[in-house]
Amino acid sequence: MDEVSLTRRYHFAASHRLHSTYLSAEQNRLLFGKCNNPNGHGHNYVVLVTVTGNLDPESGRVAELEALDLIVNEAVVARFDHKDLNHDPAFTDRVTTGENLVQFIWDLLVDQIPAGRLTKIGLVETRDNYFEYPMPALKT
Ligand SMILES: [Zn+2]
Repeated sequence: MDEVSLTRRYHFAASHRLHSTYLSAEQNRLLFGKCNNPNGHGHNYVVLVTVTGNLDPESGRVAELEALDLIVNEAVVARFDHKDLNHDPAFTDRVTTGENLVQFIWDLLVDQIPAGRLTKIGLVETRDNYFEYPMPALKT
């Protein structure tokens, strides 16, 4: 039977500051501009979790939404919602860019998917910024 993908949408609000510990204060200001403001700023992040697999013949579904929700809400939403991303241990020496965040969300979920397999994480940071992991050409 052909595989089908399901994408489910999740949301969390978090603050951050783009700042690299590898750069000087001046280099950070030049590179990140207003996103380097010491007071930080917030985003309403949208996480798009795509799971691919064969349909369960009885339910006609790729994955039980309730089981998926439980895992994503615990591993991702509860971890980041109303938090400062710069204080998360995962970002001690990584900048809290959308690129790093989308990869980290993948790492948090990839071994926990209840049925099928994780094939994509999408992360909407702002109206104009969308991040995706893995790159479409590298999907398996
Ligand atoms: Zn930002």
